[in-house]
Amino acid sequence: MIPYGRQNISDEDIRAVVEALTSDWLTQGPAVPRFEEALMQATTAAHAVALTNATSALHVACLAIGLGPGDILWTVPNTFVASANCGLYCGAAVDFVDIDPATRNMSVTALEKKLEDARKTGHLPRVVIPVHFAGHSCDMAAIARLSREYGFRVIEDAAHAIGGTYDGGPVGDCRYSDIAILSFHPVKIVTTGEGGAAVTQDAALADRMRLLRTHGITRDMDRLPLNAGAWYYEQRALGFNLRMTDIQAALGASQMTRLHDFVAAREALASRYDEMLSGLPLKLPPRQAHIRSAWHLYTVEIEDDDDAPESHGARRAHVFEKMRKAGIGVNVHYIPVHWQPWYREMGFHPGDFPAAEHYYRRALTLPLFPDLGHAEQDEVVAALKEALS
Ligand SMILES: *Cc1c(COP(=O)(O)O)cnc(C)c1O
Repeated sequence: MIPYGRQNISDEDIRAVVEALTSDWLTQGPAVPRFEEALMQATTAAHAVALTNATSALHVACLAIGLGPGDILWTVPNTFVASANCGLYCGAAVDFVDIDPATRNMSVTALEKKLEDARKTGHLPRVVIPVHFAGHSCDMAAIARLSREYGFRVIEDAAHAIGGTYDGGPVGDCRYSDIAILSFHPVKIVTTGEGGAAVTQDAALADRMRLLRTHGITRDMDRLPLNAGAWYYEQRALGFNLRMTDIQAALGASQMTRLHDFVAAREALASRYDEMLSGLPLKLPPRQAHIRSAWHLYTVEIEDDDDAPESHGARRAHVFEKMRKAGIGVNVHYIPVHWQPWYREMGFHPGDFPAAEHYYRRALTLPLFPDLGHAEQDEVVAALKEALS
């Protein structure tokens, strides 16, 4: 089976992990700040906080901003459930903004309309989480303009997007947001096995997230009114244990030296898909001159006129099955979050966000990772042509 995503592990990565294993540190030690430094360089953010995964990064980002009971968080239905669950972890309510069919990202038009309505009813969001789907940045300048007008904070879910750019700046520079979160799951752009990070330009937010990473405990003597001795620490908030290990950070720091090679390889393969798939009854991924995607995913849409309310897309299902049988590990990103039973129990229904649902019925993710060979890619294209015929 050709998988839809696969990590690239070099001899250098293995050496870095072995070195960490034979050092004095296994849990958070000197490799973590080294990895954080690499993330700061790649994103140009002033602060990076490495965490156990992107789910915990979303959680502490929401807490650092002060999201809590009585607040509302908005994200998109076309994402992994973690982008919404973080709001629930904090006791906030969650709602969704539909996507723009052209980019599969949060629709700025839908966001603006929903904000106008929410202002009238007094249900404005405290936090909005745009998701850079497949590595293609959202329209961050427009979202930032609305955030100033309506007073919400912005956390970018950049789990797919490290190494991408928007308007000439790297994704994660937080020019248009408070915090951006990154994922280092093995299918993502760079990996630490499990891992995530939050990057920000705001020193106070970074401080808060670091505090929440280690139980809310500080040993920083400058902050302690009482200095009883070198053993002394204080718990200042209800935090968690969300530390990344040095083993993981050593892998991450080594991976980061190849970030631009990874994105370039993905980009070249995506362009090759574009060429080979043109003329087929498919909608190909978006291209916008001011955005360089990190190409986490290459997702096509299978032309189909099915839009029955609870349909999962019969034609897409047929193509998916045929390709899986042919040994191609296609996937689907994403089942709309509001279709999940957990969210339906809160009152969401199929039909609530028609653009995300229309897209979902047609979406098919093809294999894309730096080591995908041209012969394998040809196999994927042949199987897709066969399945569509
Ligand atoms: C993978 C992913 C996450 C969660 O990342 P983990 O590191 O697995 O916790 C969050 N949001 C999006 C959009 C993702 O794809």
